[in-house]
Amino acid sequence: MHPSTYYHASVTEPFPCSPELAEPIAVDVCVVGGGYTGLSTALHLARQGASVALLEQSRIGDGASGRNGGQVHNGFRHDPRWFESRLGADTAREIWSLGIDARQHLDWLIDTYQIDAQYCPGLLHLCHKRRYVGETRAYVDDIMSRYPNTGLRFVDEEEARSLVSSQNYYGGYLDLRSGHLHALNLALGLARAARQHGAQLYEMSAVTRIARRTPGWEVLTAKGSVRAANVVLAGNGYLRNLQPAVETRVMPINNFVLATEPLGRETAESLIRHRLAVSDSRFVVYYFRITPDDRLLFGGGETYSYQFPKDIAGMVRGHMLRVFPQLHATRIEHAWGGTLAITTSRLPYVREVQPGLFNASGFSGMGIVLAPFAGKAVADAINGDSGAFGLLSRLPVGRFPGGKYLRSPVLVAAMSWYALRDHL
Ligand SMILES: Cc1cc2nc3c(=O)[nH]c(=O)nc-3n(C[C@H](O)[C@H](O)[C@H](O)COP(=O)(O)OP(=O)(O)OC[C@H]3O[C@@H](n4cnc5c(N)ncnc54)[C@H](O)[C@@H]3O)c2cc1C
Repeated sequence: MHPSTYYHASVTEPFPCSPELAEPIAVDVCVVGGGYTGLSTALHLARQGASVALLEQSRIGDGASGRNGGQVHNGFRHDPRWFESRLGADTAREIWSLGIDARQHLDWLIDTYQIDAQYCPGLLHLCHKRRYVGETRAYVDDIMSRYPNTGLRFVDEEEARSLVSSQNYYGGYLDLRSGHLHALNLALGLARAARQHGAQLYEMSAVTRIARRTPGWEVLTAKGSVRAANVVLAGNGYLRNLQPAVETRVMPINNFVLATEPLGRETAESLIRHRLAVSDSRFVVYYFRITPDDRLLFGGGETYSYQFPKDIAGMVRGHMLRVFPQLHATRIEHAWGGTLAITTSRLPYVREVQPGLFNASGFSGMGIVLAPFAGKAVADAINGDSGAFGLLSRLPVGRFPGGKYLRSPVLVAAMSWYALRDHL
């Protein structure tokens, strides 16, 4: 049963059912998870001639990849200065280039496989506190003077308010290399391309155990199994009880989105000019955009348990009205939640965790660009080219404190504290 998302209601890519795995099979590589990471891994491996089986516990794109805000962000969660101070100027530059490669890889996927991603350029980052504007301007000036192809431009309060009809913002910057797209179409387009190259996709096939065999691995589901030389874990926030090395470093958080009724072209374009995507400076970020059929798609609000709140529409609507009180009479037609994954450093955890067992997850709200790229990096590493994988696997990612039982409450306490600061 699909969630009631705007994406499921507006999907245009083919959405065929894949079979459940119901027998023992053997392949070169088994991929666990049918989101951007797993689909891209499968696509690239199959393209390079490997035999691949992808196991998805639900349907393709039912995880974060078919439910997200659709915002195409460049680079990583931290700006280059963060990397410079921790990893040195040379590594920071390498990471900057990697971010550009990742962004170009997304364009390449969309163009090569003619994915109906409905990409729309331009992303505005807005400050919800006046005191953030000075540091934002300094950031943009500094990065533009030292790094190539930034695509950034500072936006003052007057321009911000002319671009977005809200009194909530005081300035920010425009990123012309970012934008927004149809999240589920992207996932389904990747699935189509992976199938086209011969990858075998299985749905409703939850992996319950992964066991070491000589040689390789055995991946078990309720009705079948896969023998493979290599296994790629691409379960992100949905992966549970399969691999402790991953679960101590990558933790799930839930985020929520709504889509209004169609607003009509004129109202939609006066709410956000040029159909820009917008994200703001809150710790629990508000992100929003206009869809091709003139709805406002608005994301905001986070929870940290395995259950979603009962009234998601009411919760997200409250956040939306803080930015756009003029929409108080607008109907909400879709509201849904999804689970993403974060790490302590907010950088992805891309590693060969045991020989032949790879993981790529923890994209912290930046997965539209990074997850497909990490999938390619893992596929290339399995094929002997560890260039991008080598750099990704050097990104620092520590364990969450608290051990198996306290990890979750410690995370909730920390996140709640930061979320509280949005209101101070
Ligand atoms: C509400 C929301 C808004 C977001 N907004 C944005 C945004 O605007 N921009 C952005 O860049 N990122 C955003 N993100 C994050 C982005 O969606 C993710 O980083 C990205 O989709 C991760 O892709 P993935 O393939 O790694 O994980 P997923 O898409 O979550 O895929 C993992 C898959 O693994 C499957 N799985 C897990 N365990 C098993 C198992 N044992 N057996 C079989 N299958 C298994 C799951 O069912 C799932 O389908 C958002 C996320 C959410 C939830």
